[in-house]
Amino acid sequence: MEDCTVISDRPKQVDLDRCVHCGLCLNACPTYRELGVEMDSPRGRIYQMVQVANGAPITASYTEHIGLCLACRGCETACPSGVQYGRLVEAARSEIEAKVPRSLPVRLLRRFIFGRVLQSRRWLTVAGAILYLYEASRLKALLRAMGFLKLLGRLGDLEALTPPADPPFYFRQIGKVFPAEGRARYRVAFLAGCIANISFARLNEATVRVLQRNGCDVVLPTGQGCCGALHVHAGEREEARKLARANIDAVLDGGFDAIITNAAGCGSTLKEYNDLLEDDPAYADKAAKFSRLMRDVTEFLAAIPLNTDMGVMPIKVTYQDSCHLAHGQKVRSAPRRLLAQVPGLEFREMALSDLCCGSAGIYNVVHNQMAMQILDKKMTHVNATGAEVIATANPGCLLQLQAGVRLHGKGQRVVHVVEILDEAYERWPYREKKDAAEP
Ligand code: SF4
Ligand code: SF4
Repeated sequence: MEDCTVISDRPKQVDLDRCVHCGLCLNACPTYRELGVEMDSPRGRIYQMVQVANGAPITASYTEHIGLCLACRGCETACPSGVQYGRLVEAARSEIEAKVPRSLPVRLLRRFIFGRVLQSRRWLTVAGAILYLYEASRLKALLRAMGFLKLLGRLGDLEALTPPADPPFYFRQIGKVFPAEGRARYRVAFLAGCIANISFARLNEATVRVLQRNGCDVVLPTGQGCCGALHVHAGEREEARKLARANIDAVLDGGFDAIITNAAGCGSTLKEYNDLLEDDPAYADKAAKFSRLMRDVTEFLAAIPLNTDMGVMPIKVTYQDSCHLAHGQKVRSAPRRLLAQVPGLEFREMALSDLCCGSAGIYNVVHNQMAMQILDKKMTHVNATGAEVIATANPGCLLQLQAGVRLHGKGQRVVHVVEILDEAYERWPYREKKDAAEP
């Protein structure tokens, strides 16, 4: 029997028709800025999608130009015609995956990563343990000190982008409820991610603490899992739909005021579950409700009366917009407004702060050379601010910018916005007295 929940993806004509080929998006596109090639611009990519929609074959060249796109959606912000480029490129990649046969090793590797590792706490824990052993055995430090990784060329570059192991892993907190500090004003669900559980466990802890200090009962629903963002970016939309349905089932009936993520890349996909499941009659309405409740943690905190019991943070901070927050979710002022409320913090705006840093999910691994070129330019702008801290709002950007600091930086610290808030709350001079006074 045919599986009626399998939805075929390809760029929709109505979305393609919105492009009037004006070219106003070209300067906002990192790959066009690097290469100056029309086929690697948003307009050129849309033109190629139109050719395929009109019956042209999917060639290796088409696959390459669509693959080299960062899916950063800078072009969406620049476009006066409202072209939803993110929808287009994700659907184009899905069509490529469905129609272009991959070699057996590539198919097996993709199935292992997208179908197995990212979806399994057990596999992620194994991966985290291997990473931890690699770091704890000091093998990593030794190889770096000997310059061995440089000899490996591209492989060595990739090693610099490997997510760190951050034990104890965060999986053990899933299923728990963290009560609000003081009077509970909100009940929120927190989605802890997939890789973030092993590589950003401390960031997840900081996020929950900051929410608690802002009157939130924070629930970590048991059935939650990977959001599917990496799957969507890689054209694995059907696999992403399975994950979306599981997250909706795990969270939607919990009576939450908001569903929170601290990962802008995940948030963008989570907010677009309504798009992902629009043709699934059983889940379309539920997905729309889920999407309405989704909030980036900075967006949520900036919209409520913020607890200002913070200590002084005498630091100069610049902010790198995460593409999927600024362009995907249109959240730009919220992180800046939060940073502005930290006592003593001096904010230094950087030039082109919303131009991609080159992270883009697994782009920096798959297209390492282009990602590093883009990062090089980004670090020039970071260094010009004189800031000693780079704040951002997405784990992938944190890793990419940390690599940027190692390669081209001036020793800057790279942190998530909520980590600065968390530290400021910790520094509040009356905290110990207040904690002692509470039952
Ligand atoms: S998503 Fe980013 S890289 Fe892709 S075409 Fe748009 S601006 Fe260029
Ligand atoms: S995507 Fe928008 S800005 Fe770019 S060429 Fe088309 S209509 Fe113009």
